[in-house]
Amino acid sequence: MNEIFILVEHRQGQIRDLTYEMLGLGENLANQQGISFTAILLGHDVKNFAEDLATRVPKVLVVEDENLKNFNSILYQKALSSLISKHQPCLLLMGHSAFGMDLAPSLSVEMDFPLATDCIGLLFEGGRLKATRSIYGGKVNANISLRESKEYIATIRPGIFSPKMPGEKKGGIVMEASPLQGAVDLKKFIEYIEAPITGEDITQAEILISVGQGIGGPEHIPLFEELAKNLGGTISCSRPVVDRNWLPKERQVGISGKTVKPKIYIAVGISGAFQHVTAMRGSDTIIAINKDPRAPIFGVADYGIVDDFQNVIPVLKEKIKG
Ligand SMILES: Cc1cc2nc3c(=O)[nH]c(=O)nc-3n(C[C@H](O)[C@H](O)[C@H](O)COP(=O)(O)OP(=O)(O)OC[C@H]3O[C@@H](n4cnc5c(N)ncnc54)[C@H](O)[C@@H]3O)c2cc1C
Repeated sequence: MNEIFILVEHRQGQIRDLTYEMLGLGENLANQQGISFTAILLGHDVKNFAEDLATRVPKVLVVEDENLKNFNSILYQKALSSLISKHQPCLLLMGHSAFGMDLAPSLSVEMDFPLATDCIGLLFEGGRLKATRSIYGGKVNANISLRESKEYIATIRPGIFSPKMPGEKKGGIVMEASPLQGAVDLKKFIEYIEAPITGEDITQAEILISVGQGIGGPEHIPLFEELAKNLGGTISCSRPVVDRNWLPKERQVGISGKTVKPKIYIAVGISGAFQHVTAMRGSDTIIAINKDPRAPIFGVADYGIVDDFQNVIPVLKEKIKG
């Protein structure tokens, strides 16, 4: 069995956290199989990235090309299929992100490799890849077995695996000739537009009171705003709260909102769907208030209060005042 490839995801001059998580997973799988793991870095002017990655992996394969400066699935696919044909890795990991969702299915069809998407667990059994996928909004975990193959592709859910930290040993950086012959017309990167921050930036808050659909209606929002103010924090929310226009989009925490890491995250009336939890589980202390003791949010909470928020919040406000 050959090495494991991990595709580095970078955007706007930064390697995304998901890359380090995939390196952690790649290392574990490689150790189990007694093989090596390699970071695949496609980009332009990415020497700094290669240096960083080399402190975490035995080898970094770099394709430098101006046309790879920004993500373009067609060009990435060309570069990757060429590297795969040359090195024949047993597995290619990439993020289950907008980036990986665009690239993986097309590459899998071109190479005729089995593909498992949105994986939260992976292992080789008898040389065959098995994947765990969380389905029905996180209510069921399905173990799936992929058909026998020498090579596989898997996309990895963000926020699941522990990141690979830098080590003492430095891996090798190997430059590969770019197989690209210029840009393509079919698909072009035009511009990166950062969502404007009009109100408060929830990613900078140290204390977040985050409200979900369970608060019942917009009439309760002032209660939480007041609580947030008294605590020196700010208010954030789950997606249905935005969909219902109770709060603006810039307050949304989740995979289609913002990722937050405050010191204290108080989740009120939030069930804990993975699309939400992925983006707040890095908070230092998580407190959940939910009337359903089986709500998945309690699985990530450090402290849990099982009750109607209408019983809890007034008491909390009194305590804070006192
Ligand atoms: C592609 C995609 C992207 C998504 N992106 C995001 C995202 O970025 N962010 C996000 O949050 N979601 C996102 N979602 C939606 C996500 O799947 C969930 O539907 C959503 O997070 C649920 O929001 P919620 O927890 O507020 O509501 P619900 O799931 O309805 O949960 C409400 C909770 O409140 C509790 N509750 C009810 N009444 C009370 C009460 N009186 N007191 C205390 N507790 C009470 C209930 O027990 C329940 O657990 C996305 C979904 C998809 C498909």
